[in-house]
Amino acid sequence: MTSTENLKALSQDSDYDPNSMPVEQARKYIANFLEPVTSSEKVSIRDSLGRILSENVISPVNVPQHDNSAMDGYAMKGIDLNEGEKSKFAVIGTAFAGQPFQGAVENGQAVRIMTGAVIPDGADTVVMQERAERDGDSVLVDYFPTGANTRKAGEDLKMGAPALTKGHRVRPADLGLIASLGITEISVYRKLRVAFFSTGDELIGVGSPLGDGQIYDSNRYTIFGMLTELGCELIDMGVIRDTPEDVERAFSDSTSIADVVITSGGVSVGEADFVKPILDKLGEVLFWKIAMKPGRPLAFGKIGKSHFFGLPGNPVAVMVTFYQFVQVALKTLQGQTHQTPVPSFKARVTEALKKAPGRTEFQRGILEQSADGEWTVKPTGNQGSGILSSMSQAHCFIVLPTDMGRVDAGEIVDVQLIRGLV
Ligand code: AMP
Ligand code: MG
Repeated sequence: MTSTENLKALSQDSDYDPNSMPVEQARKYIANFLEPVTSSEKVSIRDSLGRILSENVISPVNVPQHDNSAMDGYAMKGIDLNEGEKSKFAVIGTAFAGQPFQGAVENGQAVRIMTGAVIPDGADTVVMQERAERDGDSVLVDYFPTGANTRKAGEDLKMGAPALTKGHRVRPADLGLIASLGITEISVYRKLRVAFFSTGDELIGVGSPLGDGQIYDSNRYTIFGMLTELGCELIDMGVIRDTPEDVERAFSDSTSIADVVITSGGVSVGEADFVKPILDKLGEVLFWKIAMKPGRPLAFGKIGKSHFFGLPGNPVAVMVTFYQFVQVALKTLQGQTHQTPVPSFKARVTEALKKAPGRTEFQRGILEQSADGEWTVKPTGNQGSGILSSMSQAHCFIVLPTDMGRVDAGEIVDVQLIRGLV
């Protein structure tokens, strides 16, 4: 679905309720309206870290290229070894890693071999040195089945097969893997361009003194951090005043240059009254009240070709909505097709948690492991949506599902690690 017309058509869905949108449903709606970047560029191996592959990486070789030894020991024909017996061989030479034995192994012969060395012609089995007794030019070895202690050509990667697939985010292991193929440059999608700004008459940028009733703009810093971790190209548009002219100009300026526009503040009821008509004029944006805490108001839509996320103003709500909705969407927009869900696991809560049924809560928690290995989670204290220190202290979100009520100390809860890339 790509036409903006379809976005408004959502409101025809029988379970569509903008005033109480479940978290899962909002994620699904958003996912239907994402148009990932398509253009790509070639970058060197190291520059590809964190980027998304725009083509399969095909292995031009077998890795490893040859059958080789997994152990230091002796290489021979497996057929010369008899189960339950020791066998004696004449040692005819040595194979080092990078320096193969020149010649062939015949029946009754063995070659001294080092880990990683090519298995000599005629040999197919290695007996490790700990199971061999060397005596001058001969060696007495224990039985091993044919093929033991050898690594087969192509067992890591087969020539002609995709070593990595399109849509994969390049991780440190992949850099090594690409290098192991002898490839120097790979194709990745261009970086996603994300513009962001804060709205609010009370906001002051750091570096200026605070006036009466003013606060420093912190959201642009948390958003900067979360976007940087995702490897986006950033366009910081600053603080925008709460006037229709300023807001309209900021939207037109940012949507003309960015794939995604992210704002904070100004989407809760009263303020949306003037933001909404502007966004209706410029594009097609839906305002939702998500059944979650923190982070109730959320706006999502398309303005021209740009995707728009209007996050709440409260600093914790900004981070929670980013991690729960925006992060997964940005990964998709970057072209990442292989996404694993953010890992969550069970932990025992150390204190009672206040929770009202009817909404998903993302409380902030500190993880600890007890002496017996069990994970416990302690809430960070004040769970107010303006308490940014709770996010600084937290390792995880304590995810309390919609139907759940109060949680007693000692109960088992789901925790979700707070992290950028998965
Ligand atoms: P709003 O959604 O605009 O009504 O903002 C909700 C609350 O978040 C208000 O207390 C704002 O002062 C605060 N807030 C909004 N934007 C920011 C920001 N960029 N940095 C810090 N606090 C903010
Ligand atoms: Mg505001």
